[in-house]
Amino acid sequence: MTQEYYRHLYVVIEQIDGKILPVSFEMLGEARRLFDDFNARYSSNEKVVAIILGHNIKEMSKELIAYGADVVVSVDHPEVKDIRNIIYTKIISQISTDKEIASKIEPSYASEFKKPRYMFFAADSIGRHLSSTVLVELDSGLASDINKLVIRDLEVTHQIKTAGKPVNFKKTLEMYRPDFSGFLWTTILCLDNRNNPVIERDYSPQACSIIAGAFKPISPDPKRIGVIVDYVPKIDEKDLRVKILSRKVIESEVDFESRRAVVGFGRGIKDAPEKNIKLVEEFAKHLDAEIGISLPISKNVYPASPSISSTYMIPARVIGTSGRKISPMLYVAFGISGASQHVTGMEDSEFVVAVNPDENSPIKDQCDIFIKGRMEDIIPLLLEELKQQQQVVQA
Ligand SMILES: Cc1cc2nc3c(=O)[nH]c(=O)nc-3n(C[C@H](O)[C@H](O)[C@H](O)COP(=O)(O)OP(=O)(O)OC[C@H]3O[C@@H](n4cnc5c(N)ncnc54)[C@H](O)[C@@H]3O)c2cc1C
Repeated sequence: MTQEYYRHLYVVIEQIDGKILPVSFEMLGEARRLFDDFNARYSSNEKVVAIILGHNIKEMSKELIAYGADVVVSVDHPEVKDIRNIIYTKIISQISTDKEIASKIEPSYASEFKKPRYMFFAADSIGRHLSSTVLVELDSGLASDINKLVIRDLEVTHQIKTAGKPVNFKKTLEMYRPDFSGFLWTTILCLDNRNNPVIERDYSPQACSIIAGAFKPISPDPKRIGVIVDYVPKIDEKDLRVKILSRKVIESEVDFESRRAVVGFGRGIKDAPEKNIKLVEEFAKHLDAEIGISLPISKNVYPASPSISSTYMIPARVIGTSGRKISPMLYVAFGISGASQHVTGMEDSEFVVAVNPDENSPIKDQCDIFIKGRMEDIIPLLLEELKQQQQVVQA
């Protein structure tokens, strides 16, 4: 049997104020599915290892096991109550290379163990930052914003990595990322350098950040058995120089939760941004709907008056993987093409209407009613109809 220095799949969990974030359960769900298959295919006994940091978090380890973790490495310490990147990076890196922890995870692999085989982080503002700094410490590569994963053996020929010769890379994690407005996939691989003595080296863990909503959690099973490892971190005084003196959670001024309808608009406003947004505004008012946008709109690339841009072209209104996930009774999408990152944010809406002149636009497959046409032509017609209906209801 060849030596294997890299074992297990480590999932970095995020919790805020004692609540585990949904994306963490989603990552565990995908880790469980991948590793049930992995262990069966490769006749191995590698583990899904959840890493959680916080204070007074004892109960969470059981929850993580119910959601698919085989092992939870828990760091319960007042200094890690809230995220501070320097400390979190050091502790997660310590855990990832610690032989004693490895022996508690799976004793039969512990003597050769060097680092995790794979590692998952959330692709949110915390996870994106943390994944980059942890992977620098662990001296390996990172793929960001992933929403599909496959593990398989691959034959790869690469001019530099394999010196032009075909090499079989076993147990490779194929990390898929939606690119080109979400309509094409990029497959990212983190491969060792082989066959080329000048640059020969390993790259492990194969790591990625995962976008929220991409995977489903498994149904929690409170009877699942797992191992809990309490880790006492080595914290250096000099790493405590950044102090959190107070913490304020800013509530979003955009209310997607309590409104029954949401109206979204995207780059389809381009021919007359100000006029089109005013039409959307009037339409939303009649429906008592909140207004959402696609991501490009938040970049303020369309000329509009300061009051319109500061009210509507803002990140808080973005629907999708980089913004909010909504689930209203009615979602009306004006001038939105239906890129996968946007769809992830609105697919739980009960009823969807899309207005778009392009009937090949992917939003057509995501809606219950597709109205082919330009928003500047269609919204006035919809408004007229709405006003008439409201008069009937009031009479
Ligand atoms: C890591 C990453 C994360 C991302 N996260 C998000 C996210 O959270 N949310 C998000 O939305 N996007 C996100 N994106 C961007 C996403 O890939 C798309 O680029 C974006 O959703 C496209 O926005 P759009 O539909 O407004 O524009 P386009 O794709 O340009 O579509 C505009 C649509 O308007 C139609 N149109 C044209 N003229 C009119 C008219 N007069 N009336 C009506 N319709 C018209 C066109 O036919 C077209 O279908 C992300 C991308 C990446 C790489």
